[in-house]
Amino acid sequence: MSVWENLGGTPAATWLAGQIAAGEVPHAWAFLGPAGSGKKPTAVAMAAALNCPREPLVGCGVCPTCSRVLRGRHPDVHHIVPEGPLIPVDVVRELVVPEAARSPFEGIYKVFVIEEADRMNEPAQNALQKTLEEPQPDTVFVLISEHEEEILETVRSRCRIVRLEPLPEQRVIEILTAEGADEGDAVLAARISDGDVTRARAVIGDGATRERRALWSTIPRRLAAPTDALAAATEIVAEVKETLKAREAEQKEEVVELAEAMGEGRGTRAPQTALAKRHRRELRRLEELILGEALQTLASFYRDVLVMRAGGSDSVVNIDLVEEISLRASEGGADDAALVRVVERFLEARGSLVHNANQALALEGALLEAVRLAPA
Ligand SMILES: [Zn+2]
Repeated sequence: MSVWENLGGTPAATWLAGQIAAGEVPHAWAFLGPAGSGKKPTAVAMAAALNCPREPLVGCGVCPTCSRVLRGRHPDVHHIVPEGPLIPVDVVRELVVPEAARSPFEGIYKVFVIEEADRMNEPAQNALQKTLEEPQPDTVFVLISEHEEEILETVRSRCRIVRLEPLPEQRVIEILTAEGADEGDAVLAARISDGDVTRARAVIGDGATRERRALWSTIPRRLAAPTDALAAATEIVAEVKETLKAREAEQKEEVVELAEAMGEGRGTRAPQTALAKRHRRELRRLEELILGEALQTLASFYRDVLVMRAGGSDSVVNIDLVEEISLRASEGGADDAALVRVVERFLEARGSLVHNANQALALEGALLEAVRLAPA
């Protein structure tokens, strides 16, 4: 057992595990690759390998240190996530730069995982660059991005570049069935997750993710009139709130854990404030993720109808809904152009989540477009 095993044996993870085990630990890395290529889980595995006291530079994956790093609960592994569209310069100045100058709190390495690093604006990247130029020996940065062209050359050039790719569908199926998943569930999860083994595991093993997808999947058949679109939008938003509430409860636990780890006294205010800020960012991001999940599921449903009409039933993504999809495809009424418009509306709404202040409105708009497909 090692922290790397969960990653499904991607070439990048295998190479990286070898580098770290050999003590090759540059202080800045850039993990680049498309969505679903496992950038974040790979960064977290590396953070665990760097801090594991039981199997140093390997990461046993089971000791309390590994377990806390893997759950995102280790005081020396910092996750920097965007707040809305940006990682603003204040975050880099207030959270990253001073923290990077301190020694690890209890671990061996202090690791900063900067998620969607391309969302650092230019001042933020410049501020980070200064820190990258004067590295502490026990601090490691991992910049994660699927838009590397948005990262300044001056920053990129200071990082060891690792390119990641999603796994082939067949490989994801093999991993899931080896882990005990039913063959049918594995095929569906692999198809939906597009080579992202972490997401595929969630689709299979995480009850909340499964239930949400089941709910999103029932929406198309319920869209007959404009009021149905509004009801579906309300339902999706309520589901998002429910998920956020669950996460808030976990965050409260984390605050208690931090207080216990640090004890009361001087110097505890700054980490507490930092944690509160991180929690707010996490909630906003989770909201984005769940809404994105809903919009993606709906887009892929209508795309499947188009695919089916074109005779490409082998490339249907939502194979558990194939009967409904095929029925829709054979229905008259909506023409292909109307279907294309609906798919586009859902994808546009998804793409604009980050920048859009009124996400509910974008969601309603796309659902209303889908209502037009209903036979008169
Ligand atoms: Zn360990």
